[in-house]
Amino acid sequence: MYGDKEAAETLEQLKVLSGTKTDYVNHRVLTTREHQGESYDVHAFSIGTDKPDVPVIFFIGGIHGIERIGAQVVQAFLNHMLQRLSWDSSVLHILDNLRLWFVPVANPVGFRFNMRSNGRGVDLMRNAPHDATGKVSFLVGGQRLTRGLPWYRGTPGEMEPESEALTSLVLEEVDRAPLTMVLDVHSGFGAVDRLWFPMASTTDPVPHLPEFFELNQLLQRNNPHHNYVFEPQSRHYVTHGDLWDYTYQRAYEHERLLLPLTLEMGSWRWLRKNPWQLGPTGLFNPVKPHRIQRVLRHHLSLLEFLIRAGFSWENWLPANERQRQALYRDGLAMWYQDES
Ligand SMILES: [Zn+2]
Repeated sequence: MYGDKEAAETLEQLKVLSGTKTDYVNHRVLTTREHQGESYDVHAFSIGTDKPDVPVIFFIGGIHGIERIGAQVVQAFLNHMLQRLSWDSSVLHILDNLRLWFVPVANPVGFRFNMRSNGRGVDLMRNAPHDATGKVSFLVGGQRLTRGLPWYRGTPGEMEPESEALTSLVLEEVDRAPLTMVLDVHSGFGAVDRLWFPMASTTDPVPHLPEFFELNQLLQRNNPHHNYVFEPQSRHYVTHGDLWDYTYQRAYEHERLLLPLTLEMGSWRWLRKNPWQLGPTGLFNPVKPHRIQRVLRHHLSLLEFLIRAGFSWENWLPANERQRQALYRDGLAMWYQDES
């Protein structure tokens, strides 16, 4: 189980590495939650240059505590990158011009107690202050009826410390980076792996549709055999208070470029292959060790791809308004025009 032990091991690794590459590694406690007499820290680790004006990529897991495999994917990739710091010159070259942030467990109380929500019963993915526009999916879209049901949004206008701290860190970077990308890793929806981009709060197209369209094209060219379904989240459900819609909107208002993606790992196929895994966490996570390893291995190339895309952003992001308009039309045709 990820928790204090893994964080302590990572800190130890960072300490060793900082002896040689002081600028490359950093650790912050974003916030601390108290629950039943215990303290739980939200740890964030960064690797890369501390120059302000470089692209930044976030890898985030464990926002829903029960989706344990997401935290494992992020932690495994952090370990992978840390060990490469000691020998891989290509990684060092990239990290001279890029910063990575890892938050493996954004909701440590939920993680500890196998809950989707945080310790106060709030779903951190429904907890941003904005309301959705249009028809919201019943309950799953976010509710204020009771903390006893999932998807509880929390007190109106009040963000939980975990959401607040995460959003602040991302926006701090967004303010100075030419491009910020987020990969927030979840599991539990459907049978295939999906990469969702905003919006979740409306079926209207996201303003940065051209940029998401190009990122999708780039992924397709880079790995034609990948099996991610790349699409706007609103194709599946419309929700209140989505954390990435909120953060994206804040960035957009400040004319900053933030491209957040949610990786939803389809868990139903793990269930189909192993129906006996229906324990408290089995709906959301692979259980057999070989299957966990396969999941960790499988997503490595996506996370690696995002680093290279972030590093080389000037080579694929649309360069002018004419290009953007053409790409916007392509994006509309691909994702929005089949809906009525
Ligand atoms: Zn989730």
